[in-house]
Amino acid sequence: MTQKQFATAAEQVNEERLLELFLELAKINGPSSKEQLVADYLINALTELGFTLEFDEAHKKFNGEVGNLIAWREGTDSSIPPLFFSTHMDTVLPTKGLKPIIKDGIIYSDGTTILGADDRAALASYLEAIRAVIESGIPHGPIEFVLTVNEQPGLVGAIHMDYSKVKSKDGYIFDSSGDVGQIILKGPYSSRIWLTVEGNAAHIALNAEEGNSAVLIASKGLLNMNLGTIDDETLANIGIIEGGELTSIIPGTVRVAGEVRSFSKEKLEKQLQHMEDVMQEAAEKNGGKLQVIIEKKYSGFDIPEDHILTKTVETAAHNIKVNPYLTETLGGADTNVLNENGLTCITLGNGFQNIHSFRECLSVENLINTGRLTAGLIEQWYYNHKKE
Ligand SMILES: [Zn+2]
Repeated sequence: MTQKQFATAAEQVNEERLLELFLELAKINGPSSKEQLVADYLINALTELGFTLEFDEAHKKFNGEVGNLIAWREGTDSSIPPLFFSTHMDTVLPTKGLKPIIKDGIIYSDGTTILGADDRAALASYLEAIRAVIESGIPHGPIEFVLTVNEQPGLVGAIHMDYSKVKSKDGYIFDSSGDVGQIILKGPYSSRIWLTVEGNAAHIALNAEEGNSAVLIASKGLLNMNLGTIDDETLANIGIIEGGELTSIIPGTVRVAGEVRSFSKEKLEKQLQHMEDVMQEAAEKNGGKLQVIIEKKYSGFDIPEDHILTKTVETAAHNIKVNPYLTETLGGADTNVLNENGLTCITLGNGFQNIHSFRECLSVENLINTGRLTAGLIEQWYYNHKKE
């Protein structure tokens, strides 16, 4: 694979049109599980761009408005393996009434809503990139969009996706706060642990002698629990403690819940076992009982540096004059779920900042570069396969 000297499709990306498209998309209200308006917009926009669309039925699992959208467009050369681009259609909070403000090259909301750059920036960039690819007339393979619903509450749409509808094997997801050029090759395994500690409920004035405080038992367990940064690839947290009824009642039950993330499946399991063991020991020593539920959130992924997806994005980034940089994250994303379901994909940075807050913002430069890199990827993917 050699580096191409220019990027014709990327050069065709129209800055004004992309900015306008982003602002239009950001204003479409589509909080998690209520993405119908976004889907309606995409049905029109993608059909116009020559895509055939299919929705799955994932939303029926969580009472959402619409399923995941899978859209396919033939290439000029069907011998090239298809390439997919993915992102989520939902935003973490509504964007209804969004009043975008652009100051010194940065796009903000007016501070009363989120901006929705996460991840309408990717959606807008994808659409503009397809326009640029068509207008530039470059040869390219088939392109597929895998657009999920209900991502923000925990990758729910991706978890319930009908993967038989997806024809591609390899793809990219622009959905990270690093500047364009960021390439995330590695993501964590993650599980939740629910520890229900039982003591014995009693009234402090009536039958205190029968009481055995579940809160005190759980506290002893927690004192022996390693939490926080466990090692350079593992994190553990207790995020929920709930229990008790009245201030006069010795609590009979307390529920302690937490989460572990690790790049290593073995280390994840070892940490979960440790959390269970110390709580079990506290329960046994203090006349209590313990029930444990472990719930998998998602699996990790680890894409090699010499994978064609990695090589393609490095070259495509150079072609549009941004610096590619390889990294890893302990954050979870649809990327984890898609990789687990037989697709191979990596997360790319599109540079949004302060997401999930009213201070959310995005530089026009990162927006334009996301569009240019998307177009460049489609072009480079073609050349890298032609040269194989
Ligand atoms: Zn996102």
